[in-house]
Amino acid sequence: MCYKKSISLLLLVCCSSSSFAFLPQTSLRAGGIAVLPISEQTQHVSYQNKPILLTHEAQQKYAIVGIPLSTPVGKIAIQTDQGSIDLDIQPYAYAEQHIQLKEQRYVEPSATELARYKTEAAAQNAIYQSFTPAQSTTFPQFIAPTQGKFSNSFGRKRFFNQEARAPHSGLDIPAPIGQQVIAPAAGTVVGIGDYFFNGKTILIDHGQGLISMFCHLSHIDVTVGQQLLQGEKIGLVGKTGRVTGPHLHWGMSLNDARVDPQLFLAK
Ligand SMILES: [Zn+2]
Repeated sequence: MCYKKSISLLLLVCCSSSSFAFLPQTSLRAGGIAVLPISEQTQHVSYQNKPILLTHEAQQKYAIVGIPLSTPVGKIAIQTDQGSIDLDIQPYAYAEQHIQLKEQRYVEPSATELARYKTEAAAQNAIYQSFTPAQSTTFPQFIAPTQGKFSNSFGRKRFFNQEARAPHSGLDIPAPIGQQVIAPAAGTVVGIGDYFFNGKTILIDHGQGLISMFCHLSHIDVTVGQQLLQGEKIGLVGKTGRVTGPHLHWGMSLNDARVDPQLFLAK
């Protein structure tokens, strides 16, 4: 399957059909998303042995693939029960971000804090690796989870007090403490925590390995297992965990790949 042809086909479908609702934007880069038209008979799609989200829009079936931030430039192969689809991952220059933290424990955690972080990371990773049935026949349309201006903070190579750390796996939305945070799409609350780095956090499952995450909250209004409608209040902006000021950290994970949340919003 020629991917370039598939993309032009997708654009034609976008522009020519008034019933076309909304799919994430394609961005073939580490931390991006591939929106792949697939044949109706395709039942199983996987990448790195992880199941891929399948959906329908305007009578066309699609596989929506999250591309991990660690993906090198070059070819990757998406497996389907009808053969494999090659994607050509493009270079993308994520900016560097140098952050000065007053609390050195967020740069060099103690052994106890490190052990705590590892337990918390394992719990969050188990959620990212889960794959629940689709919650609707179409792809969930996303809206911003809180008000505020945001720029391309996803994927930044980060240095805390000059020490290199993992790239930024979400999008930061600066906002005052106490501002309302809402569910950006319908889903089920699958995780709540008060984590060492992430502070007060909510994880929402939108089905088929699509998980959203909201961190540094001052208050959590939901409980695990709660079903949410789009726009329902889930908590309040805060500055808990490793932060330099109040903001909402919004993460999106798809097939266990942390991807750019901006790709889920209408342009
Ligand atoms: Zn952040």
